[in-house]
Amino acid sequence: MRPQEALLHGAPKPLEQLPLDPCYAGLSDVYHTVVSPTPLPHPRVVHFNAALAAELGIDAGDQALVDILSGNRPWPDYAPVASVYAGHQFGAWVSQLGDGRALTIAEIRKPDGERVELQLKGAGPTPYSRGSDGRAVLRSSIREYLCSEAMHALGIPTTRCLSLVASPQPVQRETLETAAVVCRVAPSFVRFGQFEFFYHRGQPEQLAPLADHVIAQHFPHLCGRPDRYARWLEEVVDRTAQLIAQWQTVGFCHGVMNTDNFSILGLTLDYGPFGFMDAFRQHHVCNHSDYEGRYGYDSQPLIGQWNCSRLLQAMQPLLSDDQDEAAAIVTAIYERYSATYSRAALRRWADKLGLIEVRDGDTRLVSQLLTLLHHGKSDFTRSFRLLSRVRTDSDAPAVGVREEMADPAAFDAWVASYRARLRAEQNTDDAARAVRMDRVNPKYVLRNHLAQAAIERALDGDDSEVATLMRLLGRPYDEQPGMERYAAAPPDELRHLEISCSS
Ligand code: AMP
Ligand code: MG
Repeated sequence: MRPQEALLHGAPKPLEQLPLDPCYAGLSDVYHTVVSPTPLPHPRVVHFNAALAAELGIDAGDQALVDILSGNRPWPDYAPVASVYAGHQFGAWVSQLGDGRALTIAEIRKPDGERVELQLKGAGPTPYSRGSDGRAVLRSSIREYLCSEAMHALGIPTTRCLSLVASPQPVQRETLETAAVVCRVAPSFVRFGQFEFFYHRGQPEQLAPLADHVIAQHFPHLCGRPDRYARWLEEVVDRTAQLIAQWQTVGFCHGVMNTDNFSILGLTLDYGPFGFMDAFRQHHVCNHSDYEGRYGYDSQPLIGQWNCSRLLQAMQPLLSDDQDEAAAIVTAIYERYSATYSRAALRRWADKLGLIEVRDGDTRLVSQLLTLLHHGKSDFTRSFRLLSRVRTDSDAPAVGVREEMADPAAFDAWVASYRARLRAEQNTDDAARAVRMDRVNPKYVLRNHLAQAAIERALDGDDSEVATLMRLLGRPYDEQPGMERYAAAPPDELRHLEISCSS
């Protein structure tokens, strides 16, 4: 924080002086259970997100921080809670889930007045652990930590991460690993599955208090309106569609799009076997346990809509006492999704191509390019980044992209139509377009092999690669001299890294 901002908002404070605002924890205990974190032996801070701490108004020098962020000491004056939820997992209904290893340890007001929740993931068992250990391993914690901050820097709505603490405590997964705890930060961690839980249990009276909490805290413009639930659900559906449009246009695959992993605020939530695609494949499935490919890249938009349909079904009791009327409202809200998604996705693809206006035929231009990238198994991130070099005043080939194409002649034909389309823009200035394109086509994303290298180093006690990636991915759109190797496609032997879905 700059000195002027510190004066404006007050200097960073030790934890006990931060303004607590426990309004989620203040809801009835039908929504959550008070649980203390299980102490974590020998905590070692792998990374502390000083920029986020400053945003939250937290004094990074507070002696109690490491103990609190590892679950070894409670946050002053706050009783931590684990939430209960249910969900559709890979399409199948699961009636009882919940925060099996996550605990909300504080709700504070940031210096700018926004309320945020802090949550420890991997802080030990809760009543919702279903026999599991309540822990998270260092491997998956590093992935969540790096990816949530990378997504934030890309401008994609996401939960954030404040800290990553490791411990030598053994944790059994496919192999014996070691424990870690991340501290996640979000305005709310409420999931679709929380509403589904009460609907399917035959407790529709529990829907309104939770919905009113979310509306009061996060959609205050709707407070008090008689039609607030319908208007709110429209916004949730819109945000979900817009989020997935952002995922698609950076080549991000979530991997486990179960309704319990879907945020009511439209945030990317619960990072597991996710992946940014290197070689572009339309049907890419990043989760090796997803045998049917339910959550493949090209299915993500429809799955997002299906998840909205599950949420809307659960909310039906709040929409009207007349079942037919409630069903009609649900249908109308559900149908918004496709139009919102298409509009948001096309706008983003157009931005990626440097097009200021969206015109008839642009959808075709995009889908032709994606087909070419698919057949060429072209590197998604690198190809889009290089497209800014196409010039309208010369027929020079699109160097770097053309070489990867299975059918270079077909690609040349595409570039010719792209050039013609660019010439039809009102502003045809190539340099200005290249600047615009470089602001939306990242140079650096969290490729699996980069995360893996950071994990392997950290497992050996060297956390420097985590820090390097945090710096790099904090500025994904900038050229960063000396860091080009992080922008390259993975070497052949690392192309098909299998990411375990255990975490
Ligand atoms: P996930 O696939 O990580 O979204 O988790 C699905 C459900 O299993 C959630 O309710 C988690 O809280 C729970 N869960 C996953 N791993 C563990 C674990 N190691 N201990 C307890 N609960 C877990
Ligand atoms: Mg989850």
